[in-house]
Amino acid sequence: MKEVPNILWLEEIRKEDIPSVGGKGASLGEMASIGLPVPKAFVVTAQAFRRFLVETGIEKKIFASYEKLDVENNEALEKAASGAKSMVLKGKMPAILKDEIRKAYKKMSSGDLIVAVRSSATAEDLPDASFAGQQETYLNIKGEAALLTAVQMCWASLYGARAIYYRAKQGFDDHSVNIAVVVQQLVHSEKAGVMFTSHPITGEPLTIIEGSWGLGEAVVSGTVSPDKYIFDQRSQKVTDVLVSNKKVEIIADGDHGTKVVEVTGARQDTRVLSDAEIDKLAMYGKIAEDHYGIPQDVEWSIVGGTIYILQSRPITTIGNRKEAKGMSAEKQSATIILKGQGAAPGIASGRVVIIRDVKDTGSVKEGDILVTRMTNPDMVPAMRKVAAIVTDEGGMTCHAAIVSRELGTPAVVGTKTATHILKSGQVVTVDGEMGLIYEGEIPHAAPVAAATPQQGGAGPAAIITATSVKVNVSIPEAAVRAAATGADGVGLLRIEHLILGLNKTPGWFIANNKEEDFVRELHDGIKIVLDAFPGKPVWVRTLDAPTDEFRNMMGGENEPHEHNPMLGWRGIRRDLQSQDQFRLQVESFKRLWKEGYDNLGIMFPMVSHPDQFVAAKAMMKAFGVDVENVTLGIMIEIPSSAIMIEEFIRCGIKFASFGTNDLVQYTLAIDRNNENVADMYQPQHPAVLHLIHNAIQVCREYNVECSICGQAGSDPKMAMWLVEHGISSISANIDAIAKIRQAVARTEKRIILEAARNRDAE
Ligand code: PEP
Ligand code: MG
Repeated sequence: MKEVPNILWLEEIRKEDIPSVGGKGASLGEMASIGLPVPKAFVVTAQAFRRFLVETGIEKKIFASYEKLDVENNEALEKAASGAKSMVLKGKMPAILKDEIRKAYKKMSSGDLIVAVRSSATAEDLPDASFAGQQETYLNIKGEAALLTAVQMCWASLYGARAIYYRAKQGFDDHSVNIAVVVQQLVHSEKAGVMFTSHPITGEPLTIIEGSWGLGEAVVSGTVSPDKYIFDQRSQKVTDVLVSNKKVEIIADGDHGTKVVEVTGARQDTRVLSDAEIDKLAMYGKIAEDHYGIPQDVEWSIVGGTIYILQSRPITTIGNRKEAKGMSAEKQSATIILKGQGAAPGIASGRVVIIRDVKDTGSVKEGDILVTRMTNPDMVPAMRKVAAIVTDEGGMTCHAAIVSRELGTPAVVGTKTATHILKSGQVVTVDGEMGLIYEGEIPHAAPVAAATPQQGGAGPAAIITATSVKVNVSIPEAAVRAAATGADGVGLLRIEHLILGLNKTPGWFIANNKEEDFVRELHDGIKIVLDAFPGKPVWVRTLDAPTDEFRNMMGGENEPHEHNPMLGWRGIRRDLQSQDQFRLQVESFKRLWKEGYDNLGIMFPMVSHPDQFVAAKAMMKAFGVDVENVTLGIMIEIPSSAIMIEEFIRCGIKFASFGTNDLVQYTLAIDRNNENVADMYQPQHPAVLHLIHNAIQVCREYNVECSICGQAGSDPKMAMWLVEHGISSISANIDAIAKIRQAVARTEKRIILEAARNRDAE
């Protein structure tokens, strides 16, 4: 094998070099390779770092100091980290390497060029390991000596306490973790901004450019109202120019950081970009879009008349970017009073209302911030009204998080102390993306309908993927928004909320001779969703609410008290024993099939043995369903069903869908609703992935559709992994569809490309 050099220039970098140059280095290399004017850069490779460790003998010492390290012991962790860091900082860089770095730096410019020195961590088994934010970046570095020190400081940052802890928890072998360092010309832009290479909502061939004076941060962060230009790619002309009053600009502040300064005089209202610059930027945008195959969100900057492209990434949801943008200028000085898990994106300010008992929800008003220990289904009407939701308990997959995401209401869950720390009437701002609660009202841009029908039109919906991208729905009122994403169907319709919203348990309807009401409610709710997805599969899941969620409803007094409702009487286990409850659900399905909705499929939750599937099917048959001619499948939420998938297939399931919210909790013994163990709730734990991988392979063998409808399917990284491993469909949350579709498309393209390249190489 060819030895990897110590230094690689951007132009030399190929995609396969990720293990040597890290994700950051590789993506810059890719942009340079297609002719985009990326600022000059070279990478000190991960191999150079390894050589440094070996030649100085530090490697053995570091690993010896780790050997018995208990990362939970803070003191020991800090000690090991500072020991390792100081070894790296004091280590003598091999003369050859020093020389090569000096030479490369000189080659960038005759004088002392100002550069940014950025870490880019990699791992052998996971080349693009996302250790985001754990290694350092040093800006404004000037001169050889400062550069060499900065490189060594980046290396040392691989051994920060947080980074060591993270790797230990994620199961990374530290021997295989490496670090590359990107040394790049720092562009002190005179003007800068962002560009959408196509219209982000309609997908029309219109390039939209926003620009202002100074560094691009001013535009990205929303500190300034930028100029806006529209370039029509069909006519190749600038069709719209909006010059704003640009009061401030962000510029470099000495050696560190940036500062906001006033823009004076006529420059405030001077147009930032000339037509010629717009033409050129639009051309670069087109190159990027053609190369990546999807519209791009590009950061650009101009200095001394030269255009630089700093970053290019797929457009996700414009709504999210705008929201983040509207707030961050003020955020800098705002006080964070509480942290939790960002469970539903969006930002909202309002008056705190603390609800200790569901009976008090009457006091909740439109626009309030609902603060409670944990939400229950009976709080949904109040959750609809409020501007944001904050809970003490829960994690990303808890009931509050699922419903908030669907309602489009920003939510932070698992803060542990919200109901104690926040006071009724207090005004706060909730950032549901970052999981932060700020004191007071922080001005922010009005939400631009985050989960809007962007995918429905000619925009990114035009992305066709071989893997179906479906959507999860829990409340019928979200059906239209869900359909507007252009999703290929509904991979999970949770029907609990069709009933629980009425504040009565299924048992209550049965005990009070209101069976017909129950059937009608279910029928009507499901029909709304079916009507929104004509001709597309809609998988309806039979009831699956743990007994504690029924407690506060009418009929709740008859629910059994269970020590651990998550392991208790829920899902198919309950339906098989509560024949009436199951019969009424089946009755509503039967009516829908009779009305011609043959896109309706039924999915059984919490199945742990094929016998349960067989029994459920037999019961449906007894209730008059032509079971061989309807689509019946199971959720894989319990490890036993993943392990026994072949037996399930032999029993006739037509599809299986991973319910990772439960699969993770039952595989790792981590209660998904318990904020104390939320950091150990790992959907990408090797054991979970192992179960998923095996089950997918068996489904493929038998040609049975295999899907995912747990929260993990809304994580683009997981989606990529699933596509690589052969999943047939992914069902994600409404707010995640756009990014999941892009992740799926990209992965599929990569697989095809790699296959073609391998064929060519043979
Ligand atoms: C799951 O377990 O992943 C799932 C989708 O079901 P729920 O979240 O309703 O338990
Ligand atoms: Mg589940």
